[in-house]
Amino acid sequence: MPHNPLELAKQTEEIVVRDGKRPYRSISVEPFYRQIASARSVGCNLRCRFCWIDKTRDYPRRTPPDTRWLTPEEVYEELMRVSNNGIMTEFVRITGCEPTIGREYLLSFLEVASVTARVRKRVLLETNGILLGADESYVKALRRYINNLSVRLSFKAGPTHFQQKTGAKAEYYDYQLAALRYLEKHGIPFWIASMTRTAWFTSLDERRKLFLDIADTSNDPRDLFTRGLLEEEEVDLFGITRKRLMKKGLLPEEASQQDYEPLSASITRKVVEKLGITLEVATQESILEARQRVSDHIASLGKDGFIRLIQDSDFKVNPSCTGCHQCGKTVRHLVEDDSEIGKL
Ligand code: SF4
Repeated sequence: MPHNPLELAKQTEEIVVRDGKRPYRSISVEPFYRQIASARSVGCNLRCRFCWIDKTRDYPRRTPPDTRWLTPEEVYEELMRVSNNGIMTEFVRITGCEPTIGREYLLSFLEVASVTARVRKRVLLETNGILLGADESYVKALRRYINNLSVRLSFKAGPTHFQQKTGAKAEYYDYQLAALRYLEKHGIPFWIASMTRTAWFTSLDERRKLFLDIADTSNDPRDLFTRGLLEEEEVDLFGITRKRLMKKGLLPEEASQQDYEPLSASITRKVVEKLGITLEVATQESILEARQRVSDHIASLGKDGFIRLIQDSDFKVNPSCTGCHQCGKTVRHLVEDDSEIGKL
């Protein structure tokens, strides 16, 4: 039976927030975003089939003995301590299960992170967005921390497969879109992640519908799709992920790791075709000129025109191109490199 993720969040909060503390499985430097200090708690309001978090996701009471209950101050102190040496990114991250469960706790953490006298690190809040989309006042409350916060809003599936892939009732798909709307409305820095890269897991139709919904919801989808504010994730087949996928019949016998090319590349290809740009004779100058023409064309499109571009773009599966930009014959070298995410 599909569940109500708002109810589940309430029940989970009763378990994972106690006396101003939350249980943490780990606070350590992780190899993402050029090494980032990350705090991982337990308990989530979704049951994503591709999730690789252990059983503490579903059974937050059953935490292993090394779990530590920590106040927001203690978490921030620990994040600062572990990120002390040679960590390049300016962020620390709260992730792992759902950090928006326990609103007062999260806001206290952000308060600590914003007023501390020590060298400040910005906070990267990774969320599935359901609770933010359910309550605009929650997003409004984040405004106070905008100088010190970025949100990574992670879309777990397209509208056609949300229930199947997350276990939550289908109507809660819209809450992720509402979160996007509120984040933009209140000027909270954010970017989007979407579980859409792996071709065997996400059909063309599901992928396109998700992107169209995101584009339709956003004030200016051109920014999201062309300035590196869309991070597409792939399914990693860890042991527990395999089990979860198999249990739900979502793992094909031959799950080849073929990925879609990034959406920005698909969009660029479409514009290249429209403008009649030839890539076969690409030189450094012609690449720069072509890149400028592509970007001018996209800038000239209104929101509706850009949505039509997504509608018309081919989504290619691209198993061999690694995006090295060496051959000069693919659209990948025309895609802007100034990704905000890449700058982390
Ligand atoms: S939202 Fe994240 S932690 Fe929760 S089930 Fe989905 S992938 Fe796992």
